[in-house]
Amino acid sequence: MPAGTKIEEQKGWLADWLATPLRRNRPLYLKVGLAAALINIFALVTALFTMTVYDRVVPSNATDSLIALTIGLVLVLIFDFGLKLLRAYFVDVAGARIDRDIGRSIFDHILTMRLDQGRHSTGGLSGLVREIDTLRDFFASATITALVDLPFTLITLAVIALIGGWLVFVPMAMIPLVILVALATQPLMRKLSSETLGGALGKQSVLVETIGSLETVKSANAGSVLSSRWDSAVTGHAGASLRQRIVSNVSITIAGTAQTMAYTGVVIFGVFAIANQSLTLGGLIACSILAGRVVAPLGTIAHLLTRLNAARTAYRQINSFMEQPVEGPSGTGMGVRQLDGAIEFRNVDFRYPGAPELALSNVNFRIEKGEHVALIGPIGSGKSTIARLMIGLYPPSSGLVLVDGTDVRQLSPTELRSKMGALLQDNVLLTGSIRENILLGRKEVEEEEMVRACKVSLAHDFISRFPSGYDLELADRGESLSGGQRQSIAMARSLVGRPPIIIMDEPTSSVDADTERRLMNNLREEFEGRTLVIVTHRPSLLRLADRIIMMANGRVVMDGSPETIRNQVADIRSAMRGRDGQAA
Ligand code: ADP
Repeated sequence: MPAGTKIEEQKGWLADWLATPLRRNRPLYLKVGLAAALINIFALVTALFTMTVYDRVVPSNATDSLIALTIGLVLVLIFDFGLKLLRAYFVDVAGARIDRDIGRSIFDHILTMRLDQGRHSTGGLSGLVREIDTLRDFFASATITALVDLPFTLITLAVIALIGGWLVFVPMAMIPLVILVALATQPLMRKLSSETLGGALGKQSVLVETIGSLETVKSANAGSVLSSRWDSAVTGHAGASLRQRIVSNVSITIAGTAQTMAYTGVVIFGVFAIANQSLTLGGLIACSILAGRVVAPLGTIAHLLTRLNAARTAYRQINSFMEQPVEGPSGTGMGVRQLDGAIEFRNVDFRYPGAPELALSNVNFRIEKGEHVALIGPIGSGKSTIARLMIGLYPPSSGLVLVDGTDVRQLSPTELRSKMGALLQDNVLLTGSIRENILLGRKEVEEEEMVRACKVSLAHDFISRFPSGYDLELADRGESLSGGQRQSIAMARSLVGRPPIIIMDEPTSSVDADTERRLMNNLREEFEGRTLVIVTHRPSLLRLADRIIMMANGRVVMDGSPETIRNQVADIRSAMRGRDGQAA
């Protein structure tokens, strides 16, 4: 039963976003395991070859046997070579798949995460994505090989015991030493790896914030604040990663020394075994080679435990992000076939995540299809917040936001936004051509429609003057254009396809009065019969509206036709003048 399986998967010790790619790699891991097992067997064969040569070939100068043995060994080495290459290849393919799958789920999650669950810093998020590397390194690297090598440690010990009898206790004595050191350093390593990760994320956030707003940073002279933040982030990170490396080096070096001790220990004690004739010279050499091989995988395991900590920290960080709810209804959601264009706010309260005050408080209004509404009011009165709630960027804290009578939370957010043209205050363009920025992958939009939208928003005027026209490549965030040019491209983007609802937040904030006048004429024609919500400070834009909603302190204070509002404002003004006059 699929539903049951799903629950079971989520109860597992790894979350779905990681467990699924790992499961998909299972056939590859099996191949890696098989190759690693054969490589281990070949290593035993090499040691036994040396023993045979010392014991059988050297004393009697048996050249024929040596030739036969050599041919066998060469075959083994060729296989060994091929298998090692294959093993590395399979591990890398598994790594690339894990990278791609996890990368894709994290990116999807970033795109659909709910903004009301608290904002993540840009740098923090991009640092998080970098942590995929840590996970990939752990799940597709020496780990699988080491896990296969581990049981072979027992087999190798058994072979040593067969050849050298009690000599096997020498490498066995080294095993607890390596394991104990690895275990003893674990708590410290765990603490240090989470400190290192925290430091790396901190560094990333300062860096991304600075690079993202370099012009503002320079003009506001914010360099010294940022460089002291950077210094402390770098110092913290470097310190933690230095400590981590020291501890990890100690345990890796101890494992290396233990390996040498096992090898030389077997040689030293082997002398006694040879003296009482329980071991041949060839046996001694085979045992010493094998003893080294017993300890080597343990060293790798010690090293892996270190990486396990980094991987676990990365996993927790990514998982806590991935567990945050995504926007939209929990199921597939209702499709949005066609919108009529009615919007209603019913008893809406809204508080931004972590904000002490309500940004909207008991907001009620209904905008009918085809109405043109201006939202006005002082700065911080909640106008932009209303626009954000209309396009479902945030769900209301209580109350309902309804589009055509349906709660926006029930609608699929991508579909809803594809039917609403939105021009919010942040007119950031993406890297790519102007055409790509306007169409944003909407294949159904024809060239003529794009040009029409650009003519309405007046972007066509300047785009047609560029030598490469609509194919002009924009740099990062469209910074090669002026604020006004960016704004009119963004406006064209919202007009393309004639969506039935258009929401604009200060659409003319970056253009001059003359352009604004021409724009107004175009827009009046454009919005005929379609719902328009326009957030504005500019009295000139009010001419576009046939209804005005006035906000103050997150509440609707006036709502009516422009004449009614003008009369009410005039009444209030004259009442205030009268009061001031009496006071004087
Ligand atoms: P307006 O558009 O009328 O100038 P906003 O709707 O942008 O006002 O803001 C209303 C209130 O919400 C303000 O008090 C502002 O401080 C707060 N606010 C706006 N955006 C955020 C945000 N992203 N996080 C927290 N508080 C916010």
